Amino acid sequence: MHKKLFIPGPTEVTDEILQAMATPMIGHRTSGYATLQGDCESKVKKLLFTQARVFLFTSSSTGVMEGAIRNCVAKKALSTINGEFSRRWNEIVRSCGVQTETLEVEAGQAITPELVDAALSKGGFDALCLTHNETSTGIMNPVREIAAMVRAKYPDVLILVDAVSSMAGVEIRFDDWGLDVCLAGVQKCFALPPGLAVCAVSSRAMERAKSIPYRGYYFDFIENEKFAQKNNTPATPSVSHLFALNKQMDCMLAEGIENRFARHLAMAEYTRAWARKHFAMFGDQRYLSNTVSNIQNTRGIDVSALNKALGERGAMISDGYGPFKGKCFRIAHMGDLTMEDIKWITAQIDDILGLK
Ligand SMILES: *Cc1c(COP(=O)(O)O)cnc(C)c1O
Repeated sequence: MHKKLFIPGPTEVTDEILQAMATPMIGHRTSGYATLQGDCESKVKKLLFTQARVFLFTSSSTGVMEGAIRNCVAKKALSTINGEFSRRWNEIVRSCGVQTETLEVEAGQAITPELVDAALSKGGFDALCLTHNETSTGIMNPVREIAAMVRAKYPDVLILVDAVSSMAGVEIRFDDWGLDVCLAGVQKCFALPPGLAVCAVSSRAMERAKSIPYRGYYFDFIENEKFAQKNNTPATPSVSHLFALNKQMDCMLAEGIENRFARHLAMAEYTRAWARKHFAMFGDQRYLSNTVSNIQNTRGIDVSALNKALGERGAMISDGYGPFKGKCFRIAHMGDLTMEDIKWITAQIDDILGLK
């Protein structure tokens, strides 16, 4: 039996999208392909409220994170850490041999404009790595407010945002907020099978890339832009993913982007209310995620037994991430899941655990 996915990626994929994914293959150097890529890019631009370029990379999100570092950091990056996914930026920065300092807060806390300002004021930075939604703790960092502070006080600092588990579920205004790189894999709020990443890149970031001699090959923004101008890619893309993305963007625009964000918020609020009735929400309550709820296991339930029982009913949730295994559990409410789905999964948990 298929288990409906209430995990923070990959998320449940609708039959309609799976069908689109199975569209007969076309050559990627054809005009048909160019139209497809152009359509996908212009629709993703609407989602991000941007006029800037959007690249589609055949890769998981992590690849594009590495690309962002190699293209955008000439001096030193500030890595912000408030959980296990944001820690990845720092690992990537280090592995690229790029100078870095870290700003770390306890898991469950948020990165704030004040903290970033204090760290950047030491000087010497030309990039800031942010994670919009820390999937491991269910905390959403105030990227808009942080970016406003950075744009006002540190004009040379590029803002690189991992929006992997928020893009297409939460509003991101790339141009208005003054972001420089904002990336996501399609297996989270886009609700597509994993394997493709989307990435908006500002002209400021492109200028920086031009000044950096060794940007790597596959994720070289300058080389990718040359091809993107002809609606193409340097290497063979996952054409099937573009068929699916194009379809999904049509579905999203038909739902209405604002309605999509409102649906995510409504699912989050329902889940939080349910969690507070029986358990507790982890972390700073002012910054809870709209796409994944990290619920504290205050009743000491056996999370893997719960998931096994849910599996028999055709669903799957997530255990706590890393150090929170068994101490927390996560219910993702992202992608194409609906309020009905969330009511159903929480009712199943009530039933299994005998909660009233
Ligand atoms: C899932 C996730 C990643 C990793 O994405 P991949 O597509 O597996 O590379 C990175 N950051 C965040 C915040 C995530 O949720």
